[in-house]
Amino acid sequence: SDSHFPIPISPAEVDYSLHYPEMVKADGSKKIQFADVGCGFGGLLISLASLFPDTLMVGMELRDKVTEYVKERILGLRTTNPGQYQNISVVRTNSMKYIPNYFRKGQLQKMFFLFPDPHFKEKNHRRRVISPFLLDEYAYVLAVGGIIYTITDVEELGEWMKSCLEEHPMFEALTTEELEADQVVKLLSCATEEGQKVARNDGQTFRAVYRRIATC
Ligand code: SAM
Repeated sequence: SDSHFPIPISPAEVDYSLHYPEMVKADGSKKIQFADVGCGFGGLLISLASLFPDTLMVGMELRDKVTEYVKERILGLRTTNPGQYQNISVVRTNSMKYIPNYFRKGQLQKMFFLFPDPHFKEKNHRRRVISPFLLDEYAYVLAVGGIIYTITDVEELGEWMKSCLEEHPMFEALTTEELEADQVVKLLSCATEEGQKVARNDGQTFRAVYRRIATC
């Protein structure tokens, strides 16, 4: 349950110098800009680390053992590749409850929701990590121009995520040209462990990528 992991009262309470000792001073002046929500085993973070070496990014993961695995994986990579992988870290948390405890308004440039749990039954749709209510929170922590990336191999969930984003007044879809020009889009289906599993089985994927827009 939630009582098993620490919950910061506010973003100011989190000492990120412990997560990124080589990049963040204790005053916390450098901020996290990418969040991988439900990061699983951390494959995306590891791919993004060298693409954006100056950007701090964090994985958010509910499962204790998986979080510990990602922590160890990152520490191992830091040891074997001195000076690299200093910009990625992971926290164990319930992202559906505590996103605003970790990030300030407009702080994030990118949020990732890759192969989230489908929660098929209608009564469980409220457990989905993309919903109209949660999109309000994501819009709050994303900067104007920031991007939400979603992908799934479950068609019905793909349609759900797309329709939630499409109907939300603070998000607009990236154009085909923008999707093609974005190097991160290519990683969505192949960088994570779940994505690789789907690819091995020749599974179809359904993607929705939207930008946080300004509202008057
Ligand atoms: N994104 C990874 C990938 O593509 O390989 C993992 C996908 S896995 C199907 C979904 C992950 O989301 C699981 O690791 C699960 O523990 C995590 N998760 C589910 N609900 C969560 C929540 N409320 N907060 C944080 N993580 C959550």
